[in-house]
Amino acid sequence: MRDPITTRFPWIDASITSTLAEPAEAYDSLRNQYHSTRILILLEQEIQNLQVNRLLGVTHFDLFVPGLNFVFGEARLPGRVGIISTYRLKASSRSKAGLFVERVVKEAIHEIGHMVGLEHCSDTSCVMYFSNTLADTDYKGPDFCGKCRSQVRIQIE
Ligand SMILES: [Zn+2]
Ligand SMILES: [Zn+2]
Repeated sequence: MRDPITTRFPWIDASITSTLAEPAEAYDSLRNQYHSTRILILLEQEIQNLQVNRLLGVTHFDLFVPGLNFVFGEARLPGRVGIISTYRLKASSRSKAGLFVERVVKEAIHEIGHMVGLEHCSDTSCVMYFSNTLADTDYKGPDFCGKCRSQVRIQIE
């Protein structure tokens, strides 16, 4: 996942941190899901212990925000933390190989896009298009449209 990301954010020196504890505070037992905004708060605490500018969490837990049945991910816009879930990105066994990884890469780039200040885009093929469904994720590409690419900026800490 590192290379597709550094290709699109050339100034990022990406690395993988150690696994974090289960975000028990973010668990909603009625929904059997994790509140992604609460995970962002935990990541904001975690990043203070790390020598990094930004932190993208990757979880296999199903995420939600109030008002939506689920979310593929959430990030501060702009900000230092984001989270993506692989829970709903899994491909059926008959899908072409690599589809799962493609989806994870797209969602990761989307959330990093938010972290560096991009909002949602109306271009359905742009990675910053809001995915309501997996079909949206599969339709859009892993790249920014021209308008979004021109807006990518580094958030100065
Ligand atoms: Zn988004
Ligand atoms: Zn766009």
